[in-house]
Amino acid sequence: MPNDIPPPPPVSFQQSVARMVDRALDYVKLEPGADRAIKTCNAILQVTFPLKIRGEVRTFTGWRAVHSTHRLPAKGGLRFSPSIDQDSTEALAALMTYKCAIVDIPFGGSKGGLCIDPEQYSRDEMELITRRFARELARRGFLSPATNVPAPDVGTGQREMAWILDTYKNLYPEDINYVGCVTGKPVELGGMPGRLDATGRGIHYALREFFRHPDAVAEAGLSGDLKDKRIIIQGLGNVGYHAAKLLQEEDGARIIAIIERDGALVHEAGLNVEEVHQYMQRTGGVQGFPGVEWVEPGTMALERDCDILIPAALEGVIHTGNAERIRAPLIIEAANGPITFEADEILRARGTVILPDIYANAGGVVVSYFEWIRNLSHMRFGRLERRLDEMRGQHIVSALELMSGEQSPDWLRASLLRGADELDLVRSGLDDAMRVAFQEIERMRQTHDRAMDYRTAAYAVAISRISGASLDLGAY
Ligand code: GLU
Repeated sequence: MPNDIPPPPPVSFQQSVARMVDRALDYVKLEPGADRAIKTCNAILQVTFPLKIRGEVRTFTGWRAVHSTHRLPAKGGLRFSPSIDQDSTEALAALMTYKCAIVDIPFGGSKGGLCIDPEQYSRDEMELITRRFARELARRGFLSPATNVPAPDVGTGQREMAWILDTYKNLYPEDINYVGCVTGKPVELGGMPGRLDATGRGIHYALREFFRHPDAVAEAGLSGDLKDKRIIIQGLGNVGYHAAKLLQEEDGARIIAIIERDGALVHEAGLNVEEVHQYMQRTGGVQGFPGVEWVEPGTMALERDCDILIPAALEGVIHTGNAERIRAPLIIEAANGPITFEADEILRARGTVILPDIYANAGGVVVSYFEWIRNLSHMRFGRLERRLDEMRGQHIVSALELMSGEQSPDWLRASLLRGADELDLVRSGLDDAMRVAFQEIERMRQTHDRAMDYRTAAYAVAISRISGASLDLGAY
């Protein structure tokens, strides 16, 4: 084909997701029309509200999209970013539907966004804006522990969740479950220990599980385990930081490049993630970090040679303009939608193995589920579970002693009687969710002679579950 034919116009984020779903629909048998029912966004709210800030009336626009309600509540983050719009909110809500289905969490998919650059506002101004946005959402039925539960996303965190919770509580004090109206809250306000690093940790667990499958590893042209694997990570935000730190500290992987807004740090011997993170906290960027190479923004750091590429920033960073030049044999999508549909086609044709967002970054919503369940149970963790664990331990100790006629060694007694620690439970639950989901995606691939890529297989697993759930309810 001659080179001077212009590329087709870029498809929107929402279309990109829909095409990925279409690819999987070739493998899943659905009744006529069910595909449309699954793909279409159920509801979208747009709000615009004025606020007086620094003596001036400013207007803000935000959205909350509910993609699916086959399970309730609909679940998904709230993003504060100047680049958010209705299309990306709907696309991100759709990704939440498939994500929850893959890790088998009984939630529908939702996402929200407020078009704002949080860095331009003080803490008090952000509180005013967030509370007003929460009020708009709640008064229209787009925020409630029963139907729609936000969580942190790009530009929001525990602080914003606390303001939203408090706003909701003041509006609906009679809602006995008000604490469950958001997840990712501070632990003191009903948040879950281990939620903050859950998405990054989920990336770590997903990669560990991948490396437990030698066939999968060989398909990517790699071998061995994570030790000394050369990793490039884009974005050292909440997700990227925890993923990179765990990969480095617990598995000895080498983080050879960190790409940020103000350039990239490159160091073949491996960057110290914790030190880079602390430097960023102090200076706001990576430029000037001592002792390593710094390259200017836009210098194609994503395309450098490595074993594993982890895009952990924003959507659409791998597109038709750079996909051909990406050299990583394995990509794990820590961000939502970092590879466009067309780029995905190019990479697949070249044999790049891609662990897709809807599986890879599901760790956050898995732990959000634990948090929400605990909020609804009204049980402070530890009261009952720990006591039960101790009782079970006591029974095991007694049975062992009865059988052997001897007293158990102290270390065994101590560990059996201790009961599980809450953080251990969260982490093992998360690990289990990531392992089982990977195995299900692999099983789906096996049934198609592994000719299916991971993304298509993940969508096929998700679609089967969603259509099953909807049919059970007689929704079509
Ligand atoms: N914003 C996160 C995501 O994209 C977390 C969603 C949640 O916990 O509800 O998956």
